[in-house]
Amino acid sequence: MDFGFSREEVLFRDSVREFGERYVKPHWIELDEGKYSLLDLIPRLAEHGLVGLTISSRYGGSEGSFLMAAIAAEELAKADPSLAVPVYFLLETAWPFIVQRYAKDSVKEEVLPRLVKGEAWIGIASTEPQGGSDVAGERTEAKFVNGKWLVTGEKSMVTGVSIALKLPYGGGFVTITRTGPLEARHRAITTFLLMVKRNGVVNEGIETREWDEWGRHGIPTNYLKLNNTPVDPDFILGEVNNGFKIAMEGFNVARTIIGAASIGSAMWLLEQGREWIKQRVVFGKPIASYQSISFKYAELHARLEAAKLMVYKAAWLADKFYSGDPAVSISDVAAAGAMAKMLAVEAAVDTGLEVMKWFGGMSYFRETPIARALLGILSYYVGAEGTQNIMRLIIARQVIGREVE
Ligand SMILES: Cc1cc2nc3c(=O)[nH]c(=O)nc-3n(C[C@H](O)[C@H](O)[C@H](O)COP(=O)(O)OP(=O)(O)OC[C@H]3O[C@@H](n4cnc5c(N)ncnc54)[C@H](O)[C@@H]3O)c2cc1C
Repeated sequence: MDFGFSREEVLFRDSVREFGERYVKPHWIELDEGKYSLLDLIPRLAEHGLVGLTISSRYGGSEGSFLMAAIAAEELAKADPSLAVPVYFLLETAWPFIVQRYAKDSVKEEVLPRLVKGEAWIGIASTEPQGGSDVAGERTEAKFVNGKWLVTGEKSMVTGVSIALKLPYGGGFVTITRTGPLEARHRAITTFLLMVKRNGVVNEGIETREWDEWGRHGIPTNYLKLNNTPVDPDFILGEVNNGFKIAMEGFNVARTIIGAASIGSAMWLLEQGREWIKQRVVFGKPIASYQSISFKYAELHARLEAAKLMVYKAAWLADKFYSGDPAVSISDVAAAGAMAKMLAVEAAVDTGLEVMKWFGGMSYFRETPIARALLGILSYYVGAEGTQNIMRLIIARQVIGREVE
């Protein structure tokens, strides 16, 4: 067992840290206030090999590992604790990886080189108005008509549709559709890379609007309605009626990187808290001298450290699985990803709430940016890429068995 990073990983961490300090940190508040656009940062992220980190060099990618992805997400979140930039990074790591794994060669050759250059977007369109947790019960329908798939339905929360529509090439979403009766559940789910814009041309039957979010304003989440939206048969991922497993693979790795991003944001929060409690004097002493504060600090520090180790372990297991290690199964990767997200996000939310209390009344005003980080982390606490209860369900299935259902 080795708890240290390799020399290559240390160099990579330092280079992302420097990138974050230089290009992200100066803009994170403007980004969160809508005064600076993520579109201005995407080319820089691409130049640094941070778009599609795990993509093969065949398509111009950096061939990074999931452990490197976790390292990068943590560092980017220290520079943008409201999480807009880390969310962009993690979506463009997890979902293009799935496209690389399951799309036809012609599709990969067309889209992935554009993605790594920051000219295209690949996200996930899963959640529907009747409940995002039950992916096997999704209703968006795909019908094969005259040599094309036509997709109709509603996807209620889809991060990045507006960005995909603004990028020069455009982009698509790993879209979960039904290709058989509802009763067939996951056995009738097919996954497509549904392009909302391809080669500069917006697809037909697309209706979208941005939600007005409480936090992480630097990256929009949209409502997306599809009305007979055509999908070229080449853009199917894997096989018809076999898409459920494909989507789950994407969620597994996305959750691990979310864990890393939440840890990075929480570490920034704790660092702000540390500086503050050492210099804030109340009743004649720095508030760090009160054990109700210093013990809580110690506890949060330990929880973040433990959650971070779980994140690294989940990333390490994903790397083992995808490099063909027979000792690691996909359910090990799924359970570890769920544990990483559950522990990291909950430790991060508790850190945000506690640090806000340490800052007292001033934490409630925009001049103190603590709440921006907490609101970003909350997106993962309430839902994005699976709720905290669903993380518990995945873990329980793995450690107790199917009886939990
Ligand atoms: C900022 C943001 C960005 C997002 N981006 C995307 C995106 O890009 N693509 C996308 O597809 N989705 C996206 N989502 C949606 C997200 O994935 C869903 O919110 C999530 O999957 C939960 O779905 P739901 O909100 O419909 O909640 P529901 O499924 O309706 O669940 C409601 C509550 O019931 C609980 N619950 C449900 N089933 C069970 C059960 N079996 N046992 C115990 N408790 C249960 C849940 O934990 C939750 O607390 C985003 C969400 C947010 C907040």
